[in-house]
Amino acid sequence: VVSSIASKLQAVKQRIETAAQQAGREQNEIQLIAVSKTHPAEAIRAAYEAGQRVFGESYVQEALDKIAQLASLNIEWHFIGPIQSNKTRAIANAFNWVHSVDRLKIAQRLSEQRAEELPALNICVQINISGESTKSGVSVDELPALVEAIALLPRLRLRGLMAIPQPEKDVSKQGLPFAQLRQLLAGINEQCKLQMDTLSMGMSDDMDVAIAEGATMVRVGTDIFGQRDYRR
Ligand SMILES: *Cc1c(COP(=O)(O)O)cnc(C)c1O
Repeated sequence: VVSSIASKLQAVKQRIETAAQQAGREQNEIQLIAVSKTHPAEAIRAAYEAGQRVFGESYVQEALDKIAQLASLNIEWHFIGPIQSNKTRAIANAFNWVHSVDRLKIAQRLSEQRAEELPALNICVQINISGESTKSGVSVDELPALVEAIALLPRLRLRGLMAIPQPEKDVSKQGLPFAQLRQLLAGINEQCKLQMDTLSMGMSDDMDVAIAEGATMVRVGTDIFGQRDYRR
């Protein structure tokens, strides 16, 4: 398992390099977040030993257990899952980044609860780009007001936007939501006089298209760690 994680990680990095080249971008403009949710600490350690330093988790308690087990490693932890308000204190203090902020109340709690001695918490606002009623994420209409309010919170550093588009089998249409997200970032930066620098978009099945459309962070689980066979 250890060597297969290392070789899969290498293959994903190769895909990032190829996609970047084809888009006329530098590989180092795109950061890989290894999404380790549902996988044990040993899997994270294997990827770490293969050079990976940035990991993404979606379930708070599971993540806290693994963060404690791996405390001696120099890992940058990203929270990418749905956020319940009773979990904000744990998230605010165990993670370096949160990608899934979609309402002001959560952002306010994260800002209030981030420990003073820690640097500001990096934040992406999650957008419901496909307009699905069941998915989390703020609507495009409500985005400017939310972003402006979050930008004022003292213990947060607003970095950009995140989305999980609806799966699209037709590859020729996969780029549309990613292009829309890129345009939203540029538009809001101008409208709100902000300098957000992050587009968190692209997963195992669509990372190449996301990179072509300007992703600066891709969140890849399955293609590094294999299928997830349990959920919490
Ligand atoms: C699970 C998850 C991923 C990784 O998805 P894969 O298809 O396994 O690469 C990326 N982003 C979010 C928000 C996730 O929950």
